[in-house]
Amino acid sequence: MIEKNENPVTEAAPVAEAAAPAPKADEVLRVEHLKKYFPIATDFFGRPTAFLRAVDDISFTLERGKTIGIVGESGCGKTTLGRTILKLHEITGGEIYFEGTNITNLGRSAMKKYRTSMQLIFQDPYSSLSPRMTVGNIIGEAVRQHKIVPKDEVHDYVLDIMQKCGLRPQFYDRYPHEFSGGQRQRICIARALAVKPKLVICDEPVSALDVSIQAQIINLLKELQNKMGLTYIFISHDLSVVKYITDRIMVMYLGNMMEMGDTERIFANPLHPYTVALFSAVPVPDPDVKMNRIILEGDIPSPANPPSGCKFHTRCSKCMGVCAAKAPRYVEVEADHFVACHLYDGEIMEHPDDYDLSPLTVADAAEGAGEDNE
Ligand code: SF4
Repeated sequence: MIEKNENPVTEAAPVAEAAAPAPKADEVLRVEHLKKYFPIATDFFGRPTAFLRAVDDISFTLERGKTIGIVGESGCGKTTLGRTILKLHEITGGEIYFEGTNITNLGRSAMKKYRTSMQLIFQDPYSSLSPRMTVGNIIGEAVRQHKIVPKDEVHDYVLDIMQKCGLRPQFYDRYPHEFSGGQRQRICIARALAVKPKLVICDEPVSALDVSIQAQIINLLKELQNKMGLTYIFISHDLSVVKYITDRIMVMYLGNMMEMGDTERIFANPLHPYTVALFSAVPVPDPDVKMNRIILEGDIPSPANPPSGCKFHTRCSKCMGVCAAKAPRYVEVEADHFVACHLYDGEIMEHPDDYDLSPLTVADAAEGAGEDNE
C-alpha cells in the first residue's frame, strides 16, 4: 500500500531526548530501526503524500575489525542503507550510533568530525576519480584538507598508503586514465584509507571488475582490514564474494531485513525462504554436488507499493494465509541468527486456531496482493 498523508520525517527522535545505550566493548556502529523513505507524490501545497520505503526498519550492530555483508537483489535498498548510514541521505526515522555517539541528527558542521572516520568505496572506479588530478593529489587531497599529517609529511604519507594498496611510487604523478580498472579501484581504496577511517562502506567494490582482478581487490581489502583494524560494511549481490569476506550477513528484501547472523551459520543453514532461494544460486566448487537452484517466481514488487503482511509473500513458495495479512516478527532462532518469517515464530505456528496457516500459492498470493493494492 502507498502510505498516504504521513510525514515520516518527524519519526526520528531528537538527539537530546535519545538516551544513548551503553555501547558494547569494541562496538563501532549501532543502527536502530533505521528508515529512509523518499517522497514520490505531493499534494497541492507540495507536502509529500506518498513514499517509497527504500530502507524500512533496519537494526544491527557492528564490532571493530568485523565485516557485515548486506545482500539482496537489485532494488532491495542495500545501497540506500549504506548511504543513509553515512548520512548522505536525510534520515527518515530511527537512530545511528557511531562509537557510542548518536549521530542521527547531527548537522553538517557537527558531522565534519565523523566524516573522515566513515568512508565509502564506490562501485565504479572509472567515474569516481577526477580525470584532471594526479594519483598523488587524489589520495592527498583529503589528507591535506583534514590535516591528517603535517603538511611537509603529506607526500611521504601518500606514498606509504599507495605502497600498502599495491600502487608503485612512480604512479604518484600519473592520471587515472592511465590505469586499468583494478588499479583504479586500488586508488579509490587508497583515497578512502588515507584519512584513517574506522568504518568503510564498500558498495559493490568489485562488481565492475574482471573476476581475476576481483580476487586481488578482495584480498587487498582483507589484508588492509587486518593491518589497520578496519570495520567494513560490504554491500554486494555476489554471494561467493560475501561468503569469503564477511563475518556476518544481513539479507534484505524491499527495504526490510529478512535474515541476519553469522556468515558460516547462514550459509550452512539458511532459514528464510528468500535466503534459501538466493543462496541456491551460489555455485558449489564440487562437480559431484548437484545444484538445486530455486527460481523465484514473479517480479520484485515496487517498494512504493509493497505487498501487505510479509513483503515476500507474493513470491514465497511456503506462503500461508497469515502471511498476506500479518508482517512477521524478527525471531532469534539460534544464537545470533535472526529470521523474519512466521514459519519460525512459535506465537504463530503453535496457534493454528488463531492464524490462517493454510498454504497459499504464489499465483493466489500475487492476485490477492494486486486486489489489496488497487
Ligand atoms: S512469513 Fe510467510 S510469506 Fe513470508 S517468508 Fe515466511 S512463509 Fe514466506
